[in-house]
Amino acid sequence: PLNVGIVGLPNVGKSTIFSALTAIEAVAANYPFCTIEPNVGIVPVPDVRQDKIVALVKPNSIVPTVMEFVDIAGLVAGASKGEGLGNQFLANIRSTDATLHIVRCFEDNEIIHVAGKVDPISDIDVINTELMLADLDTVTRRHEKAQKLAKNSQDSKIKNEFSALTKLLEALNAGKPARTADLTEEEKPMVRDLHLITMKPTLYVANVDEAGLTDGNAHTAAVEKRAAEEGNEVVRICGALEAEISQLEPAERDEFLKDMGVTEPGLTRLIHAAYRMLGLITYFTSGVQEVRAWTIRKGTKAPGAAGVIHTDFERGFIKADAYNCEDLFRLGSEQAVKEKGLLRSEGKEYVVKDGDILFFKFNV
Ligand code: GDP
Repeated sequence: PLNVGIVGLPNVGKSTIFSALTAIEAVAANYPFCTIEPNVGIVPVPDVRQDKIVALVKPNSIVPTVMEFVDIAGLVAGASKGEGLGNQFLANIRSTDATLHIVRCFEDNEIIHVAGKVDPISDIDVINTELMLADLDTVTRRHEKAQKLAKNSQDSKIKNEFSALTKLLEALNAGKPARTADLTEEEKPMVRDLHLITMKPTLYVANVDEAGLTDGNAHTAAVEKRAAEEGNEVVRICGALEAEISQLEPAERDEFLKDMGVTEPGLTRLIHAAYRMLGLITYFTSGVQEVRAWTIRKGTKAPGAAGVIHTDFERGFIKADAYNCEDLFRLGSEQAVKEKGLLRSEGKEYVVKDGDILFFKFNV
């Protein structure tokens, strides 16, 4: 599964939020290829549509789709120069697909803040500076090599690589994240293997106290303003409260949430925001044996979607029977969907939609 690295200064609530997330850990048996380490959690993506399908189809088994969260400890000022866990930290974060940046927006005199006071904008700057410095280091080294190569070459790949690196160097030297460098479609693939940290999408989590949850506070306002300037999203979470909720039995939990006047835990909003940030959508396979959710990137065509289940499905793809789950909910059964003529037969060029229910036909 795609994975999200959790970063933030010490004592902002990373481990609290990570533990709450992984309290709902998916059954790892369905994901035998994932190495499970203490700082890695495989988290089911809650989906009310899947619950509704299950209620109608009553399958023997239910498999949600999942996302991986990685708690990346050890980022402090100077990490790019090897301070704190330095290099280990950077190696861990390079292998993630996106970053979840947790920012402390709660006051609590009992809990020490590394900089002496709660100041989320300064915290964001410290973290982002370290990440940009790390990228700058990577890009500078590669740029030197590429410059030599490009001098004596007419190879378009080498030229594209060099121009991409030059743009990246400019952005990073100006104190801007790598993702702001305006790379062409030809340049982008040439630097993908650098796994630049500030190229990855970022989601901010404002960790607030209970009072700040609904209306926010001065700190969340500052974070929201900054995120808007960067074009990033913010999710407001009370880490301490999520930790409590995650320990409750499902029935108790629903009661608790009802008392608070909300329909879902903050973590659900967080997981969904991360899923969106990665450009992911869900389709379902549905039968009496199993109702299962599958993750694909937005824009994936039917054969690619089939390939998520098995590479043979992609190779031998013939067609997909398709309808959207909304039609199922409106009409009440697959039979009714068929009778209304809403079950379509889609070919290789069909772009799968969020919430589609698919049945693949393929050659073996
Ligand atoms: P990390 O160093 O970023 O992993 O931070 P931790 O998750 O260990 O949290 C540091 C301290 O802050 C712990 O004592 C937590 O119990 C506390 N903490 C975490 N989230 C909240 C919160 O939402 N409100 C309050 N008051 N304390 C919190």
